[in-house]
Amino acid sequence: MSDPIQLFETYEHYHEVEFTSDLCVKCNICTSACPVAPVTELFPGPKTVGPQAQRFRMTGERGDESPDKSVDYCSGCGICTMVCPHGVKIMEMNTRARESLYDGKIPLRNRLLGRSELMGKWGHKFAPLLNFGKSIRPARIIVEKVIGIHRDAPLPSWEFTSFREWFARHKPQPSAPVRGKVAYFHACAGNYYDTAASKAAVLVLAHNGYDVVLPEQNCCGLPMQSNGEFDAARAHGARNVSWLAPYARQGIPIVGASTSCTLSLKSDYREILRLEHPDRDFVGRHVYDLSEFLLLLHEKGELRTDFKALPGISDTLIYHAPCQQKAHNIGQPALDLFDLIPDLRVRMADAACCGIAGTYGFKAEKYQIGMDVGKPLFDQVRANGVDKPVICDSETCRWQITHATSARSVHPIQVLAAAYGLMPL
Ligand code: SF4
Ligand code: SF4
Repeated sequence: MSDPIQLFETYEHYHEVEFTSDLCVKCNICTSACPVAPVTELFPGPKTVGPQAQRFRMTGERGDESPDKSVDYCSGCGICTMVCPHGVKIMEMNTRARESLYDGKIPLRNRLLGRSELMGKWGHKFAPLLNFGKSIRPARIIVEKVIGIHRDAPLPSWEFTSFREWFARHKPQPSAPVRGKVAYFHACAGNYYDTAASKAAVLVLAHNGYDVVLPEQNCCGLPMQSNGEFDAARAHGARNVSWLAPYARQGIPIVGASTSCTLSLKSDYREILRLEHPDRDFVGRHVYDLSEFLLLLHEKGELRTDFKALPGISDTLIYHAPCQQKAHNIGQPALDLFDLIPDLRVRMADAACCGIAGTYGFKAEKYQIGMDVGKPLFDQVRANGVDKPVICDSETCRWQITHATSARSVHPIQVLAAAYGLMPL
């Protein structure tokens, strides 16, 4: 078999996202794996909207025109890119095609959904009012009709005290022996909407001897990127890289609990946004998913293993690995960490995607698609019992799982923190 790299003039050319469409052999493996194509006729599948449509886009007058609008129904889950045996970067080319589809005319709804940080920053001081407001049915119906955010979408609740405010008062001191600093990337959700995972993360890191510092940071940019606002996403990405680079230069690991945000820092800035920043890849190489970081510590014999059995948990728990976690290509380190907890039994869900895909499942026209995509997972959660917590790394996936099943959902780090006795589960 000939080396596909020889098909192209340079190695960089081979890796350019759009040119990987020429590697497609039409095997349809991606179409079989795509969770969206089977549940809606509006989306013909990754092979069709990805490499096949790309040939038309590349011959368009602008060089990137989309032959049809169906690419907007790609959720960006990335499963197609993961399964393609020929290295076609399908999700990445779909995401870039979505940018040209909008051509700068971004709907208000998309602009709002892309501004999770801004909404958190201004909203958290009015948390009781806003949380009450989002529970008023007539208000949600009006929002759906006027803006296009589905009335049942699992919008998060604001937390009155942000994680950074909490950290300023409760920063945990590292246990001896002190191993050095860790820079924690809390991201928008971890700061304003779902702070339990961030608190658990810094408690566990401090318990393992790390002096946790919070670098200056803004939204990773993924919500804007997913909603077609590439310029805004690049500006956010560039600021993050500039703020994080000094830590990377000192050899300080940059760790995050949100798998989608850490994936943006690791690879989306290069693969999707084409962010031009001299420290982009250097910073990316210093970024770790939190479970990945803790498992590496364990492999070096440096992770504390004074775990105790979790009180009140005697049945098997379900763990759902989000699409963005799988795209890290690090296996499922959380499962290996759970093996260290006495008497804990965890089963990985046999399901591709929960359907929320960031803000995809919030949209009025996509809400039901998201719910249908997630049905296999929801059925397994219900069959296992909704009285038990479900474990999942991504905040939007946790909101979707709880919305669909009523089961409480927690980040893996909350399980570890509880087993260390640092906080209740
Ligand atoms: S899996 Fe890859 S090679 Fe096969 S049809 Fe999809 S893009 Fe083409
Ligand atoms: S990113 Fe997900 S939804 Fe989009 S084409 Fe690939 S598998 Fe399908």
